[in-house]
Amino acid sequence: MSRNWVNWAMAQIEADFQRSADTHLIKLDLPQLANIDIYLKDESTHPTGSLKHRLARSLFLYGLCNGWIHEGTPIIESSSGSTAISEAYFARLLGLPFIAVIPRSTAQKKIDQIEFYGGRCHLVDPAAIYTESARLAEELGGHYMDQFTYAERATDWRGNNNIADAIFRQMQHERFPVPSHIVMSPGTGGTSATIGRYLRYQKVETRLCVVDPDNSVFFDYFHSGDPNLTSEACSRIEGIGRPRVEPSFIPGVVDEMRRIPDAASIATVLWLEGLIGRKTGASTGTNLYGALQLAHEMQARGESGSIVTLLCDSGERYLDSYYDPAWVADKIGDIQPYLAQLEAFSTNGQLEAL
Ligand SMILES: *Cc1c(COP(=O)(O)O)cnc(C)c1O
Repeated sequence: MSRNWVNWAMAQIEADFQRSADTHLIKLDLPQLANIDIYLKDESTHPTGSLKHRLARSLFLYGLCNGWIHEGTPIIESSSGSTAISEAYFARLLGLPFIAVIPRSTAQKKIDQIEFYGGRCHLVDPAAIYTESARLAEELGGHYMDQFTYAERATDWRGNNNIADAIFRQMQHERFPVPSHIVMSPGTGGTSATIGRYLRYQKVETRLCVVDPDNSVFFDYFHSGDPNLTSEACSRIEGIGRPRVEPSFIPGVVDEMRRIPDAASIATVLWLEGLIGRKTGASTGTNLYGALQLAHEMQARGESGSIVTLLCDSGERYLDSYYDPAWVADKIGDIQPYLAQLEAFSTNGQLEAL
């Protein structure tokens, strides 16, 4: 088979990459932490609005280089969220049909976003999305991207401007250039895998702390090693937490896991808005709450250093959920104790136990 089209497709993705800038590393203004600096890598500024822009680019390059994607190959993915939006963008860039296989219950707003980039949505029963994606790919002669299998291996973890490489480069002129910790919450687990492998490859002291929301099996899997764990309830923090152990989650590269209550995640995004004047998605709250816990503990031990975590997407996507007090009261419960805890942190830098 001629490689002309694949060469053209690779060049399109490369050119798109050249047109893009790196994402900002935001230093939080926290004078109450005298010897600890906290940074957010702002992944909301990618063209498709989230860190999934990196994953989608990697999955397309991986599929092209593996000979799985050719001229006209329909691309199928089981995702109703950020991944489908970013993959629809790259499919359109390459002139390929894109179909997201999503639960019937998916919010119209998300369907609209996928369709905005030229994707189509195939609505099925929630339990059927994986088998239906594989079936549809078979029927159409298409390629099932399968983010929950391939996220961990599609990215070049050694460097090549991956997110970990970018963080270390952007930290070079800071007072604590090698972070004590990098904190990340897992959806596919792909970002954590890239960061964890990179830390070992670079032989740095930085520890990877992975933070899991309520109703996710990753935390228990990390401690028990049981790959058959499942959870009845679904995660309420969009983009992270899974009801089954995904193959793309690599526990061996994780130094520490913490479970962060959903109420703490939501309280943290509201607190963060007061600090940076921006709304973020709830997974950013999960990440930052974990970072604040670590900062509190470092401070108590008299340590200094830096902590880096991710701003995964913007809060504009969630105005009628995380930013609607009625929704929060109904779906998450009382977040007041965490808001009070964070307010006290703002004045004394202590995250008092609740
Ligand atoms: C996917 C996602 C994550 C988790 O990233 P992974 O690399 O899939 O583990 C966190 N937050 C948001 C908003 C996401 O979409």
